[in-house]
Amino acid sequence: MESVVPLPQPIGAIEIPLHLSVTRLAAAGPCLLRAVAPLSELPERPSGPRAEFGRLAHTLTELAVSGRLGSNCIPGDAAEAFDHLLAKTALLLSRSEDTRRYADLRVAFTKWEWEKRRYLAVTAAEEAVKRRPLADRANSARHRPAPLTLARFLERKLQTAAEVPFESSTLRIRGRLDLVDRETLRDVRISDLKSGRVADSDGGLNEETALQLRLYGLAALELAPDRRVSLRVLSRDGESFASFGDAEIQATSQWLGVITSRLPAGMHVEAEDIAVIGRQCKGCELRPVCPAYRNAVSALWKSPANPWELPLDTAGTVLAREKRYSKYVTLKIADLAGRTVKIHQMYSETVCTSAPPQTLWFFDLASIEARMHKTGWRHPQNFHEVAMTPHEITAWTLRVFVDAAQG
Ligand code: SF4
Repeated sequence: MESVVPLPQPIGAIEIPLHLSVTRLAAAGPCLLRAVAPLSELPERPSGPRAEFGRLAHTLTELAVSGRLGSNCIPGDAAEAFDHLLAKTALLLSRSEDTRRYADLRVAFTKWEWEKRRYLAVTAAEEAVKRRPLADRANSARHRPAPLTLARFLERKLQTAAEVPFESSTLRIRGRLDLVDRETLRDVRISDLKSGRVADSDGGLNEETALQLRLYGLAALELAPDRRVSLRVLSRDGESFASFGDAEIQATSQWLGVITSRLPAGMHVEAEDIAVIGRQCKGCELRPVCPAYRNAVSALWKSPANPWELPLDTAGTVLAREKRYSKYVTLKIADLAGRTVKIHQMYSETVCTSAPPQTLWFFDLASIEARMHKTGWRHPQNFHEVAMTPHEITAWTLRVFVDAAQG
């Protein structure tokens, strides 16, 4: 059950950091604010079952690569180790009221989706075990190797490593590679594990994932220019590859050069000056504190034909609150665009209309009306929190804020 907390102040001036995170750069599209804003002061949000699954899959791969399956009470078999980690995750999540509802991660997936994700996570771990040299496998149960940087991995000509950090002051990027393999003396393969979809509408690898992998590739080539680097992603879509020939290397280097020249390290900028509204707002964790997004939503929600999908957020004053069944309420709201919207099946008892009229903000709702129309995106007028039918999904990471300034 989410609670209502005050809406934080929007971000003001920020200082551009020296190193830019590859995952944030790749997800940011044209919005430089999404790439560089500090995350330290973001309001807390529940991780959600999908992110927890991603974490579990990463841990399993890391255990497999570092040879720790079969030690410290962790089963040696990858499938059994998955179930062991799943049980541990359930125990941990069940301790907090915020996460108890998805302590059993399976509640957030269809049976088919769950089986596929589990299969991919276990297969990635089994593959990692097979790639470890026998001598390493014999030693691994006795000690945990120190974490490796990408530079050390490439220098030492190791076979495989997981969770490999890197930081390049020349390229001004940093990140962590899920998996690196030495396929031959010259060939290095970088793999990224994704818990969501990575295919674009044409079935190819989406731009964001391809860019992320290519930036990783640049970091590897900077350290070892004589290597051939291949880029792979393992996801619920299976195994996909990002091309990384001369043309892609040159285009990615040029793109990065343009971005870093627009973001000199140490420069102070107003957040609003580098924020760009667009498809990249969906999934952006800065939305509750982004001045551009908060200013833009009323016009976006009013338009019947937005060119891209909007995040499933709403804000406005509560007109009515109906109690449905024993646990749920439906809120009727006058949104900031002047429309009447409803939020169904809400757990919260805390949104109370007996208080003076207040502007409430809801981030990360769900809606069965959420789809592109022929003319473009029409923002839904019916949302929900808890799924009641097989066609609905639960808004596991919903956050609700009260905007005291708007009264
Ligand atoms: S909400 Fe949109 S405009 Fe704001 S930082 Fe995120 S991507 Fe940029």
